[in-house]
Amino acid sequence: MRKGLSNTRTEQFFTQSRRTIYNNKYNSKRSATNNNKNKSFYVNAAKASSGKFVVGGNWKCNGSIESIEKLCATLNSGKITADVEIICAPPMVYIDRVQSKLKPPYQVAAQNCWVGKGGAFTGEVSAEMLKDANIPWVILGHSERRSLCGETNEFVGLKTKYALDTGVKVVACIGESLAQREAGNTLKVCFAQLQAIADCVSEKDWDNIIIAYEPVWAIGTGKVATPEQAQDVHAGVRKWMSENVSAVVASKVRIQYGGSVNAGNCDELAQKPDIDGFLVGGASLDGDAFVKICNSAAHSK
Ligand code: PEP
Repeated sequence: MRKGLSNTRTEQFFTQSRRTIYNNKYNSKRSATNNNKNKSFYVNAAKASSGKFVVGGNWKCNGSIESIEKLCATLNSGKITADVEIICAPPMVYIDRVQSKLKPPYQVAAQNCWVGKGGAFTGEVSAEMLKDANIPWVILGHSERRSLCGETNEFVGLKTKYALDTGVKVVACIGESLAQREAGNTLKVCFAQLQAIADCVSEKDWDNIIIAYEPVWAIGTGKVATPEQAQDVHAGVRKWMSENVSAVVASKVRIQYGGSVNAGNCDELAQKPDIDGFLVGGASLDGDAFVKICNSAAHSK
């Protein structure tokens, strides 16, 4: 964790959290070992997810009341013809408004929340507040928060656990930088990010986590990963999940691809067997494009 985030209270919180996490892990590992004895024979270690295709729109720090109301109107009037789960993440100050405007199947998410119980943490929003406001999802570990706000793998793991324990489901982002890819470290980086989450959560918690694989070099750059590049990493992540969490979780967990997804490239990406959805930034601000991306679920295999 970065120095700026480190103070006595936060450190006390971490020590406490680590102790609880260790105890939970010990107990859940014991029951996972027993469960796996029965389950692993019929679950293929690396097969595509059995869950519904899921598309997220990360609106980031964009918009105004006027533009957001227009976007909601376009989304509501667009035809969602595919079987798809959709989660829009507006800026915090507009979530309530967006939640009251958007009709099903749209759900909402926050773009972040605090690592623990609320209190004297200026500028933060707690998972309890999200739960209280009926916000079912939160995006955690986005690369912008990792690189601009100093969020470490461990911090993202703790946040994930806290949100889940509070009853808020998590879209957990992972992904490598261009330098890391060029050094051949893509999977190593993604696995370390996943490990930090796996260290904090129980096997059951994975039912409420979506993994978003977002190569940093593809975010907001217009440089999309090729379907093959994305598929390779998704398959690697699923294999890692099978070997390090459980074959059952690996077969169920949904892995979104994020990074310059748009109305033109979504259909081809959606066909890849381990791509179970998208997390969309820029193109989610264009209602018609976003509806098209959601409907690409019809191409999913
Ligand atoms: C994102 O920020 O999560 C993202 C994928 O952005 P974009 O689609 O603009 O690359």
